[in-house]
Amino acid sequence: MTTTLQPAVTLPHLEDYTAIVGQPEIAELRTFAKPLAGRTLTMVNSTAVGGGVAEILNRLMPLLNETGLQARWEVMTGDGRFFAVTKAMHNALHGAPFLAPPDAFDVFLAANEQNRKRIVLDSEFTVIHDPQPAALIAAREKDHGYWIWRCHIDLSHADKTVWDFLRPWVERYDKALFSAPAFTQRLLIPQILFYPTIDPLADKNRELDPRFVESVLARFQIDPARPILTQISRFDRLKDPVGVIQAFRMVRRYHDCQLVLAGGGASDDPEGAEVLAEVMHAANEDPDIHVLELPPTSHLEINALQRGSTIIIQKSLREGFGLTVSEALWKKKPVVASAVGGIPSQVLHKITGVLTQSVEGTAYQLRFLLSNPEFARRLGENGHEHVKENFLITHNVKRYLLLFLRALNKA
Ligand code: UDP
Repeated sequence: MTTTLQPAVTLPHLEDYTAIVGQPEIAELRTFAKPLAGRTLTMVNSTAVGGGVAEILNRLMPLLNETGLQARWEVMTGDGRFFAVTKAMHNALHGAPFLAPPDAFDVFLAANEQNRKRIVLDSEFTVIHDPQPAALIAAREKDHGYWIWRCHIDLSHADKTVWDFLRPWVERYDKALFSAPAFTQRLLIPQILFYPTIDPLADKNRELDPRFVESVLARFQIDPARPILTQISRFDRLKDPVGVIQAFRMVRRYHDCQLVLAGGGASDDPEGAEVLAEVMHAANEDPDIHVLELPPTSHLEINALQRGSTIIIQKSLREGFGLTVSEALWKKKPVVASAVGGIPSQVLHKITGVLTQSVEGTAYQLRFLLSNPEFARRLGENGHEHVKENFLITHNVKRYLLLFLRALNKA
């Protein structure tokens, strides 16, 4: 039995986006989709909730279906050992040392083998997201279908052991998609730049009644009268939540403000509880540091926290694309973010936000923006336009349709 997911509760429809991107854009999508009507597509990733990939697929799959493709989303399954191994691989692909037991790759391959037996992989187009299910390509019948590896992480500093293991699997695909030009590795297959996107109509991003925003701040005992600095992220060391607390303490010497660190776990991330404990220790019961552990369904709450914030921080040490940044820019928020991963594609320094490299730099920029609210407001306005032009879900639909069309025309 396979675990085909139910669509999101409120299904998005292409027509709904005309008010945001305009009718010609939607008409163009329908034109591109015509030759693809009835073609089959399967996408596979490793978690149904938590993290950016699940966030994207929840909204993208219904829209792709609406264009006429028969699109299915499958989530791979695995036990605790498998996800511990894939987390270690994930960290190592981001450049950390590879800390895993000697049989790590056997565990990886065994789980992929089990999923290969469980999931039907016979579509004309198959898109496999990230390293966890990468070895599912073994299910490909000779020359059948068009297989794409969609990599959401930055491979530029990949640990050699892990990359040497993974690369031969990746090179069996027809194409690899990366979220930023700097993320790539030398590969024998073509690589394509493919920005991730956000959905402006999803609960995470849609307009909210200001009274709802106020009620969420009140529920978490956050004072709306004083500046609120916020980082929304899974409790993951690569998001540097402890570094955010250090920067906040430097800022607070000059500005009476509050910090919100809000996040939850993802089912494919076993380290969350440990990192949360480190964060609680660093916060040291400071009443102005609000550490919020949110369930994975808290989209409206996160939306409200972002909208209620004065500045959004994303102080990652390494990052994939960093969807939280797009989400904040869409809400016209000034953003202070590390110049890592896909963040510089979104935050154009001093135009759509500010980029930093360190705890001290983050503190400096936060102070600067708190002292210059008009400049901060302009950054937010520009950020919104930048996201509208480049990082909305309709762009993602279009890129996939064009990719499949190209494959069809070559076949
Ligand atoms: N997110 C969430 N709950 C949390 C933390 C994050 O829903 O507790 C969402 C966040 O709003 C964003 C995504 O998960 O949509 C995180 O994507 P990003 O690319 O920023 O980071 P990732 O978690 O994929 O490394």
